[in-house]
Amino acid sequence: MHSILITGGAGFIGSHLVELLLENNHRVIVLDDLSTGSLENLRSIENHRNFEFVEGNICDADLVYGLAARCEHIYHLAAAVGVQLIVDNPVRTIETNISGTETVLEAANKFKRKILIASSSEVYGKNLSMPLSEDNDMVFGGTQFSRWSYACSKAIDEFLAFAFHRQYELDVTICRFFNTIGPRQVGRYGMVVPRFITAAMKNEDLIIYGSGKQSRCFCYVKDMVEAIVGLMNCRSTEKVVYNIGSTEEVTIEQLADIAIKLTRSSSSKKFISYLDAYGCPMDDMMRRVPSIERIRQATGWQPKTNLTQALQLIIENEKL
Ligand code: NAD
Repeated sequence: MHSILITGGAGFIGSHLVELLLENNHRVIVLDDLSTGSLENLRSIENHRNFEFVEGNICDADLVYGLAARCEHIYHLAAAVGVQLIVDNPVRTIETNISGTETVLEAANKFKRKILIASSSEVYGKNLSMPLSEDNDMVFGGTQFSRWSYACSKAIDEFLAFAFHRQYELDVTICRFFNTIGPRQVGRYGMVVPRFITAAMKNEDLIIYGSGKQSRCFCYVKDMVEAIVGLMNCRSTEKVVYNIGSTEEVTIEQLADIAIKLTRSSSSKKFISYLDAYGCPMDDMMRRVPSIERIRQATGWQPKTNLTQALQLIIENEKL
């Protein structure tokens, strides 16, 4: 049994991670400011004897140091997430994602705790090499586009993590999550799958941003958290940074068609420009496919749930 701190544990991915770690008989403390997460996400385990919730901010150094002192492992997932939130709150995105991560890394280093940092496929930016492997370059757009502040803030997090690893031999693993989907993900910050499923279930138009020809690979959240835990527990991870994601590619228009079919919906597809969607010009990537060879070699992990199965599980959960 380990004592484990999860920052951002009341969020979408974090809450599934909490459940898995409690199932594996660990003691879990969640630190979350409930800005995009919610206590509702933790309802199933709120009274678990090995679970503790602390409401607070990752930028609060005293709080973070106190919690790091009590835990052996730290999963750092707290961040400002979602394209809409980033566009609406650019200052908060940069502050949370950079100062917060620095505080968590400093605390981990002070107590020499093993730490896993959630990064993002956004760090590849507009790199066109597919599949994207961990040593590929970052290719970012101009600073006039708010979305790149998220990508850059995650890249700075990675630089910080590497710096603590090299300079202080901190045991750190960086996970680049590609698009993740599952129950509890919300559409209000721009996430496409919950937006489509909710609209289809209400027989409303599915709003597609841009041409719909852009493609993504969606990983089911239960597979994602298994990958994360596998990396944390892997004794022989020589590498610091790992992609985690599905390799099943789908265009956003195809995704809309599948969502309509699986929900037996009478919805139509409606295309709008990025400018109309976000109120500002948006640099988007046409494709984003991960190479998952590195994690497969380190832990044997690969996704078990295909896109149709994942969407069916989300739809069933929505009906509850
Ligand atoms: P989420 O918004 O559901 O989770 C983030 C959590 O962090 C929320 O519970 C929020 O309340 C909390 N939080 C935000 N700022 C905080 C602060 N200052 N102090 C304490 N808590 C704070 O998002 P998610 O999708 O679960 O993302 C989790 C992590 O995975 C993030 O680091 C995100 O960048 C990364 N990620 C997610 C995806 C995806 O597809 N969902 C893809 C790439 C990377």
